[in-house]
Amino acid sequence: MNSIETLQTITKGTFLKEEKMMNHTSYGIGGPTQAYIVPKDKNDLAQILKFANQNKIKTYFVGSGSNLLVSDKGIDGIVITLGKAINEFRINGDQVYAESGVMLGKIVKECIKNNLSGLESLIGVPGTLGGALIMNAGAFGGEISNYLEQVTVMSMDGIIKKYKAGEIEFSYRDSTFSSEEIVISAIFKLIKSDAKTVKEKKILASGNRKASQPLKFRSAGSVFKNPAEGAAGYFIDKAGLKGTKVGDAEISSHHANFFVNHGEAKASDIVKLIRLTKETVNKKFGVMLELEVKTLGFNSGTFDV
Ligand SMILES: Cc1cc2nc3c(=O)[nH]c(=O)nc-3n(C[C@H](O)[C@H](O)[C@H](O)COP(=O)(O)OP(=O)(O)OC[C@H]3O[C@@H](n4cnc5c(N)ncnc54)[C@H](O)[C@@H]3O)c2cc1C
Repeated sequence: MNSIETLQTITKGTFLKEEKMMNHTSYGIGGPTQAYIVPKDKNDLAQILKFANQNKIKTYFVGSGSNLLVSDKGIDGIVITLGKAINEFRINGDQVYAESGVMLGKIVKECIKNNLSGLESLIGVPGTLGGALIMNAGAFGGEISNYLEQVTVMSMDGIIKKYKAGEIEFSYRDSTFSSEEIVISAIFKLIKSDAKTVKEKKILASGNRKASQPLKFRSAGSVFKNPAEGAAGYFIDKAGLKGTKVGDAEISSHHANFFVNHGEAKASDIVKLIRLTKETVNKKFGVMLELEVKTLGFNSGTFDV
């Protein structure tokens, strides 16, 4: 029995061997991982991490794959997601406790229902709490880290650690969490507000999103971070790239920073569009675009121009 087969025997949760990541990304793109694992609970997670660590199995953590571009050849290693297995959620006064598998949308909606203000501008951002914390997800002026009090993670030796918000640095679509630790839960302290104000802010954010994003097609949201010089979408649009297609992948003509999959797009098609965009925007405007989407399974240098 090889180490992946042994890991399968000790895993109590879901263990999908040679699972294609295209089934777990919002792009609908991505080759196989050695195993896609949803642990049954935190004990199961600890055993899986310890085994992977001791057996030098490369381990990657994902949420719902809404910010991920996975290569067509797939991932040499295992992928762990907390999904529905680790998804406790409770509100106590102005304090919110949520585990990483909870969808961000649920947290935002429950906070709005309880007249708690702070996260309503994130209405409509797909993904889990874990992904949102790693990405410091944000929209229309609000960021997930703004009202964070504490985060709990588990390291590769199965040990739980707690960080106060100030111990992790958050910046625009970035955080300083270690890739060797999986985020398992967080506590937020929000602001008690009145129903009218919270709902107004939510409606504004929701309307802005529907107007500006191509939500009918598969995508991973914004491909590039906005550079200091302005919006990435503005430069891509001005470079005349809207509507450019490679295979079934297209630079959205609705929002130039969204690349969409019309059905059968491959990671290699998206990579070609990324390279073309970086090259063209740099040549025309002297602006270097940096990826916002996270990539898995690519050789280093793939995205350089
Ligand atoms: C239509 C659309 C609109 C979007 N709009 C926005 C927007 O307005 N604002 C915004 O910020 N983003 C937006 N996004 C991007 C995406 O929704 C966010 O980045 C989201 O927070 C990712 O969550 P996820 O669970 O899908 O994470 P994934 O995409 O699965 O993972 C993202 C990163 O987090 C890591 N990760 C995930 N879970 C864990 C964990 N438990 N422990 C450790 N590491 C983990 C992964 O390794 C990866 O590096 C949009 C995406 C789409 C498809």
